[in-house]
Amino acid sequence: MRSLRENKEYRAEENQKNSENMQKRREDEEYRAEEKKRDLEQKKKLRTDEAFKDAERKKDKENKRKLRSLNNWSDCESQFSEKIKFGPTNVCCCCDGLWFIDSVRFIKREVFDKKTECLSFIYLINKHSECQVLTFCNTC
Ligand SMILES: [Zn+2]
Repeated sequence: MRSLRENKEYRAEENQKNSENMQKRREDEEYRAEEKKRDLEQKKKLRTDEAFKDAERKKDKENKRKLRSLNNWSDCESQFSEKIKFGPTNVCCCCDGLWFIDSVRFIKREVFDKKTECLSFIYLINKHSECQVLTFCNTC
């Protein structure tokens, strides 16, 4: 395994697989909530260390500086153009509206079924029963 990981192509492929798996897991809201809680606890522990706190402050300062540097018109314009390049292509499974990716949430069907008790709403959603991941706009 170690010799395999020394191979750059194998490592790149492995990293790709890992990131795809992580993306799939993060579509599950329960998993995301758990992960967030775990991360918060870990950071709390790390913040007791002064060196970590200093490094974190430095990083925050650098990030804020980067954000401020984006505040010129051409950067904002190009970022906006990139985001709207393909138009609103995500269909909300509840209202059938077309939305940009930033305006929708993806919820796994099994998680949705567990949390929803309103039968008429489930019936409405069932017209998209073939989907395992449901797309909802932020309004719905
Ligand atoms: Zn909607």
